[in-house]
Amino acid sequence: MSDCIFCKIANHEIPSNVVFEDDEVIAFRDLDPQAPTHVLVIPKKHYANICDGVPAETLVAITHAISEVVKAEGIEESGYRVISNAGADAGQTVMHFHMHVLGGKNLGMGLLPADSE
Ligand code: 5GP
Ligand code: ZN
Repeated sequence: MSDCIFCKIANHEIPSNVVFEDDEVIAFRDLDPQAPTHVLVIPKKHYANICDGVPAETLVAITHAISEVVKAEGIEESGYRVISNAGADAGQTVMHFHMHVLGGKNLGMGLLPADSE
């Protein structure tokens, strides 16, 4: 996916604020953070969303990266939220599978934005 911005971030073709990286995945700070910690965890290979045939070992690598990120950010105990948008109704804007990891403040009880009903 030569025109995919997250593929370019994964390949270090464009800069990002990397907080964790291994062979399978990279985690970097969101450009427009919605919480004190707002990190995106992505597979280095391109998949459109979480159900786009992502191999089991890649999903395990993503889970491992999330655990490393929340430890490094100091939010393992205070709590955090993991979200993955897929498709138009979810408001996915970058069509490369990513997990948002949010924390560092009280995120509230709701799963949906207040104006979504
Ligand atoms: P989505 O709406 O697809 O679930 O989330 C895409 C996220 O990617 C947004 O939160 C947006 O701020 C972030 N984003 C978009 N382009 C870039 C970029 O070039 N660099 C970084 N670090 N984040 C980006
Ligand atoms: Zn991509």
